[in-house]
Amino acid sequence: MAEGVRFECQPGCTECCRQKGFVYLTDADLPRMSAFLGMTPAAFQRRFVYRTRNRMRLRVPRDANCSFLKNDGCSIHPAKPTQCRIFPFWPELVESRREWQKTSRYCPGMGQGPLIQIEVARQQAQEMREGYPALY
Ligand code: SF4
Ligand code: SF4
Repeated sequence: MAEGVRFECQPGCTECCRQKGFVYLTDADLPRMSAFLGMTPAAFQRRFVYRTRNRMRLRVPRDANCSFLKNDGCSIHPAKPTQCRIFPFWPELVESRREWQKTSRYCPGMGQGPLIQIEVARQQAQEMREGYPALY
């Protein structure tokens, strides 16, 4: 990538929440999300989380892409998972102009707004790597 990228999330848009793919959780996501919903981490896990040996992800409901996506957006926005918060500064997008452009076909915020310095975008990508060691 050059010295930076433009990005500004567009009000009312929920396209990234509607894409195919899993929402993975970091260890810190679980207690924050449960507390936001007034649930114990154990109860939250039973209802919303699918665990494999080294990963946790949100269960995908039968009739939607995400249990927390409502008509007016993410119903847990202040506590949403790390990968949702950091999007689109995921390592695989920040490090590849091609992938960034491909993703911008569904994300109308990419290419809009202020220029984000590439170092800042890379710091976000690094937070993703640290939050999801089993994925990167
Ligand atoms: S697709 Fe892009 S503009 Fe739309 S909600 Fe997601 S980050 Fe924001
Ligand atoms: S948790 Fe919220 S931001 Fe993340 S995919 Fe679901 S609705 Fe979208």
